Amino acid sequence: MKYVLVIPDGAADEPIAELGQRSPMAAAHTPTMDALASRGKVGLTNHVPPNLPPGSEVACMSLLGYDPLVYFTGRAPLEAAAKGISLGPDDWAVRCNLVTIREQIMEDFTAGHVSDEEAASLLVTAQTALHNPAWEFVPGVSYRNLLLWRGDHSPFANDSCTIPPHDLIDKSVVDSFPRGSGSRELTEIMSSSAEWFADHPVNVSRRASGKLPATHVWLWGLGRSPTLESFVSRYGINGTMITAVDLLRGLASLVGWKRREVVGATGYLDTDYAAKGRAAIDELRSSDFVCVHVEAPDEASHEGNVRAKVESLEKIDALIVSPLYEALHSMGDYRILICPDHPTFIRLKTHSRGDVPFLISGTGIPSTGATAYHETAAAGDSQRVTHGWHLMGEFLGRPLHLPQGSC
Ligand SMILES: [Zn+2]
Repeated sequence: MKYVLVIPDGAADEPIAELGQRSPMAAAHTPTMDALASRGKVGLTNHVPPNLPPGSEVACMSLLGYDPLVYFTGRAPLEAAAKGISLGPDDWAVRCNLVTIREQIMEDFTAGHVSDEEAASLLVTAQTALHNPAWEFVPGVSYRNLLLWRGDHSPFANDSCTIPPHDLIDKSVVDSFPRGSGSRELTEIMSSSAEWFADHPVNVSRRASGKLPATHVWLWGLGRSPTLESFVSRYGINGTMITAVDLLRGLASLVGWKRREVVGATGYLDTDYAAKGRAAIDELRSSDFVCVHVEAPDEASHEGNVRAKVESLEKIDALIVSPLYEALHSMGDYRILICPDHPTFIRLKTHSRGDVPFLISGTGIPSTGATAYHETAAAGDSQRVTHGWHLMGEFLGRPLHLPQGSC
């Protein structure tokens, strides 16, 4: 049996007036997903427990079949794993965005999609100015970077609490600085970064060419490394991850999956959907389980761009799901699971709590009578999967191999 999981990040949404009171999933023309829905099972689930942050870090862990209440320690450690950084038991990883804050308003959580080279240059300055060898800035892709604390005597504890900058778009940041253990240290670095970056050559040049400056670092999502049992020992099968987003790469590494990098996959609206589809088909020849994660619907939501969100869903259908469906037909038994990690409401431009619709179709899955794949097509309690992380076992049709001593 071949298994495919497609994650349209943040795809679930609300009815939107501009779309005739339909959600982007309902408004998008997605004939292949609708055909799969009519032959399979469509229902609702929820990947974000009430007391955890509503983001991909929690929700994608649940989608891969791991209870976030047991395993989630923070977003940054997952991204550290993606970079091949191993954290010791006392080490902490902190997500370090480069952002644009002006007049105390979070204008852009990406600092105008600052380039990798510009980010690296800014962080070299930050590292020199910080004067403390326990801290280490690690440049990543564009605005997505890390700050590590190495060694014991860390200022952090489990009460350390931070707010993601994408939850602050167009809002005042005044009351949104870190709280709890280590908040003084984090806030000091965030505040100092304004001085470090004010006249930095990167920002001088960005302003001169009409681009947004990177005014601050914004620190959030901290945690120690989680201990995840391998997917193969848990579910008896191994997987391959195709994604352009570090936290998904990190999750894949931590559960022992292979990672397939795709040229042209950007984690943004301009991603090469077709290349991801082709890579997934190619991986299926050697792997029994392939996951394709697409960040674009989430990015469109953060920008409040209704049309872009609809278009991203149509491209996922036409350029990823459709060719995969064709290819799976020639490979014998197969199952496909499509499920967003969490809703990202266009209205709020941020990750949201709540149900997401899932679709399971393929060998041995009877039709439940749906005719399309979207939020309201999945409504009703009969097909509800209460705990999102149970969905994986249901999809694979095999019981969990829980370690001795687990309940
Ligand atoms: Zn997400």
